[in-house]
Parts: sequence; structure tokens; C-alpha cells
Amino acid sequence: MTAFRNFARVFKESSSLSGLLALGAVSSGGLLVYAETKPNSGSGVTETSQEKKKVVVLGSGWAGTSFLKNLDSSLYDVQVVSAHNYFAFTPLLPSVTCGTVEPRSIVEPVRSIVKKKKGDIQFLEAEVYKIDSENQKVHCQSNHDVTVEGKEQFSVDYDYLVIAVGAQVNTFNIPGVREHCHFLKELEDARKIRRGIIDCFERASIPNLGEDEREKILHFVVVGGGPTGVEFSAALHDFVCEDLAKLYPSVQNLVKITLVEAGDHILNMFDSRISSFAEQKFQRDGVDVKKRYQVTNVSDKCITMKGKAPGEILSVPYGMIVWSTGIGTRPVIMDFMKQIGQTNRRVLATDEWLRVEKCDNVYALGDCATINQRKIMEDISDIFRITDKDNSGTLTVQEIKNVIDDIRIRYPQLEIYLKKEKLEDVMDMLRGFIESGQGESKELDIEQFKTAFANVDSQMKNLPATAQVAAQQGAYLARCFNRMHKCEEEPEGPLRIRGTGRHRFPPFQYKHLGQFAPLGGEQAAAQLPGDWVSIGRSSQWLWYSVYASKQVSWRTRVLVMFDWTKRFAFGRDSSRI
Ligand code: FAD
Repeated sequence: MTAFRNFARVFKESSSLSGLLALGAVSSGGLLVYAETKPNSGSGVTETSQEKKKVVVLGSGWAGTSFLKNLDSSLYDVQVVSAHNYFAFTPLLPSVTCGTVEPRSIVEPVRSIVKKKKGDIQFLEAEVYKIDSENQKVHCQSNHDVTVEGKEQFSVDYDYLVIAVGAQVNTFNIPGVREHCHFLKELEDARKIRRGIIDCFERASIPNLGEDEREKILHFVVVGGGPTGVEFSAALHDFVCEDLAKLYPSVQNLVKITLVEAGDHILNMFDSRISSFAEQKFQRDGVDVKKRYQVTNVSDKCITMKGKAPGEILSVPYGMIVWSTGIGTRPVIMDFMKQIGQTNRRVLATDEWLRVEKCDNVYALGDCATINQRKIMEDISDIFRITDKDNSGTLTVQEIKNVIDDIRIRYPQLEIYLKKEKLEDVMDMLRGFIESGQGESKELDIEQFKTAFANVDSQMKNLPATAQVAAQQGAYLARCFNRMHKCEEEPEGPLRIRGTGRHRFPPFQYKHLGQFAPLGGEQAAAQLPGDWVSIGRSSQWLWYSVYASKQVSWRTRVLVMFDWTKRFAFGRDSSRI
């Protein structure tokens, strides 16, 4: 017992063991995709002489939690306001829908997370309904009826605001979707789906029902062929074949799963080898993949969709629909965008330092925001001007070399362009122009400079709405906050192209670590950096190891691994509780 306690203590205290776990489990691939991050020890600046600035964090999802975990909270007075008092490990939500993993195994209370931090971090479980950036306040409403009048409303002041409230489901205003479909966004959605599946099987087993009625009840429709829709379809298929078929033998042959996708292929954000493997696997498994169909209406009995062919309308009865088609902006963010004049946008825009445009002390990260990356061609004349140190009107090789690192950091699309064109560095890109340059000294003029960079912006892409991006943004912003004082005096960022001096910090740079698509039957597809594609059982084991190592605490890590083992040994639980 004592040995177990000691073991548990070492596990709890040693976050590096989690990294080792991933490394050990994937030793065949020799890949460490994730290592749990430790809070940055910070700049070492203490705020003894000054009053601490108040940082208010909205949301306790991937972005908010990563910010909190990495922030040196002894430097600030920190307050967290979130609609839920826990962090949910969303990539395992599809596993919750079928009982492979229990809901409590993938959540960690925010209060447990903040308890491990230095300083006094306050947590409030409430929904923010208005952000007032002019008066540096957020207006909140408690989730509970705490007064006789109902829910308590209050406001919180801030010096710095970190908005990380995520996004909401996008129904595209299609009639009937909100009323009749299940969503798969929050933990509660996953629990409802789990109960809904069992409900369908119990209802279909009631005597005196006709075969048509049973077939209708056991028709599961999944809308959206992205990673979540595909993973849920695969998980449902496994649940039905491996567990429910044994428990409901009389109706097992009536089950049908349909996956509806508006595009030409499912998993179209993945390499084409992965999407075609997934389509073929689903065909073998009997999952009906309906590509190029757009849902136009959902009633309590039927789902109606429009095919690509003119006049092609399909209306099919269903027992349960799971809607997983993408995300939309939350009302509180829409309202804030109106307030600050971002009415022409669909998502809250920030600069490359995650600062909300036109609001100096407000930051936004994760699914609720998008980085408005500046184009290199918008600034090309200014880039030329600061590069041309001697104001000669032409650039020497040395002048270019002096600023090239700053330009690479400031415009990440340049790095992507160089990789795509298989160029070693910027000088490699400029070589042709320099060689045809003027006179003996081979200098570049503004027109040649513009031509050389003309195609670089074609590589600009919005970052995907993923946990990976949100977590990296949270960690990045925390590092900036930890070094705020130091960097005011000694800026660490690139040269200011349109101003003078340097930026305080380098801009946020996303590092893609790869993505997975579990396809059921203990098979998964993995697309890793360098467009390395792996499909099959080994990728599924890689998935297990990465997702175990990515858990926010040793408690959830152990619970999740225990659930997986339990499932291997006893199957999934089909009780409707
Ligand atoms: P969230 O994690 O959604 O957090 C938002 C937080 O804000 C929550 O704590 C919420 O309670 C709080 N909040 C919301 N509204 C308010 C309000 N008005 N006031 C106060 N607080 C509020 N990404 C991957 O990289 N890999 C995957 O495998 C993957 N799988 C996924 C599977 C599913 C089923 C889903 C739904 C998503 C998946 N994602 C995955 C995407 C990933 O979950 C999101 O990109 C990520 O959660 C975004 O993080 P966030 O912090 O911006 O938002």
C-alpha cells in the first residue's frame, strides 16, 4: 500500500513521466509528438514595488487552460470566469458517446488546475454576456439561481483581458437542425448522444412495432464528414458491432449508419490517401457515405437533403441525427465585434501577437478568434525602405542579410513558401534577381524586390480551429505575459516594419504536430509533419499513446487508460443512465 502511495506521488509530481509514457508507447515510430508543458519560470521580475495588474481569463477550454498552466501567476492578480468549472479533453468526446471512455475521465476541475499554481487565482463559474472594452469590464451572469430573482449578475474589472470562450455549433440556419439534431461539442452533448443511442435500441426492441418502424428508429445519420463526424460514425459502428449486436440480437440487422458530406470527399482536410482509405473502410463496414449532399431541412421524422444533380432531393426517416458540420461565433463575441467595429468579419480578428485589433489590452485565442496575418506585399515598400540602410534606392546582399531573419519571423508565410518551392533560404529565392541585378555590385531595385516576393502571400492560410492551435496560443501568450516587463525594456521581437524599433515579442508561430483520424476497428490514420502518412493499427496505438500523454493531469491520464483497458476486457457499458 505504501509502495503504491509512493508510486502515485511520484507520478503526480513528475510531469516528465508523461512525456516518457508517450515516448515508450511509440518507440517503434520513434516519435514524441507531445510533451506536457511546465509553467515558464518567467522573467524573474517580481512586482514588489508595483501593484499587480489584473488579468481576467474568459473560458477554461484548451486555450484558457493552456494560458493558465503556463502563466507565472505570481506576477499577476488572476481571475478566471468560465461557463463550466472544468476543462474537457474534447478529442475524446466521440469516445464518450459510445461509452469507450467515461465522461468524468476526460475532465479536470479548474479549481484543481489553479490550486497547483503560485499566487491566488480566483475562479468564477459564470457566463460572460458582455465585454465592455471601453470601461475595461466584463459583465457576467452566474449559471445558478442564487437569488430569489434568479441568476445573479455581476461585473469584473480587468487590466488585461484574455478571451478564450471557444465557438458554438454552426447550424447554418437550416430549419429543424437546432430542434431535432444532437450536437457533439460539449461534454453534456456526448452524454446525451450516449443515452440517445441506447434509447433507440430499447425503443426498437419494443414488441408490436413494424419492421419499417424499427428500421427508422435504428437509422443513425451523421452530418459532416470532417474528423469529428467520421470518428463518431466509426465509434458508433464499433459499438454496434462489438457490443450492442450481442445484447440486441433481434434488431442488430436493422441498424443503418449514414454519413452525409456536402463536399466531394470525407476527411478532405487530410491527405487524399487518408480520405480514400476512410471511404473504402466505411464501404466495407456498411456505413453509407453520402457525398455531395447538402441537408436542407430536418423535421421530427425525416432529414431532407439536396444532391448535386439538378432537382435531386432525398428525404429519409431517421432515429437519431448527430450534427457535426463546423463552428460559428458565440453571441457575446459577435456583440463585442460590433462594439469595436469589426462588423465586416465573421470571427474576431487579432494581430499576430493575439491582440484584438484596436484593443491594446485585450487578447483573444483559440476557436473564438483568428489571426489577421499581414501580407508581405502590403508592406513591401516599407520592407524595402528599412532594408535600404544607406538610402541608395537599391539593396546590397549585405543589407538584405541584415534584416532577413526579422522578415522571416514577421511574415511566417515566407517560411511556408520557401519550403513549398524547395528553396533553402531567402537568399536562394533572391539569387536569380540579384544575378540579373544592376551593374557590378549586383544590387536589387524596388521593382525586382517586389517581383521576388510577389507570390509569397499565396501561402497564407488561416489556422485550423483545433485544440493544438488553441493550446499553443495559450502557452505562447503566457510566455509573453511572463516576460512583459523584461521585454518592455529589451524587446525580443522582429523589427517594426511600419514603425521604429522592435516589437516586444516575436509573433505567434504555429507548429503543426500532425493530426489523427480514428477510423474504428482499432485502425486510425495519422498525418504527421512532413506529410508523412500512416494508416492502420500502428497509428491507432500511436493515437492511444499521444492522447494519454496529452491529458492535463495524471488523474485523467490514469482514468482514461483504465477505461480503455476496461473496454478491451469487458466491452462498453450499454446501461441507459
Ligand atoms: P473550448 O475548448 O471550446 O473552450 C471554451 C471555454 O469557454 C469553455 O471552458 C467554456 O465553458 C467557456 N465559455 C464558453 N462561453 C462562455 C461565456 N459566454 N462566458 C464564459 N465562458 C464561456 N482538436 C484537435 O486538435 N484534435 C482533436 O482530435 C479534436 N477533436 C475534437 C473533437 C470534438 C468532438 C470537438 C467538439 C472538437 C475537437 N477538436 C479537436 C477541436 C478542439 O476541441 C477545439 O479547437 C478547442 O476546444 C478550442 O479551444 P478553445 O479554448 O478555443 O475553446
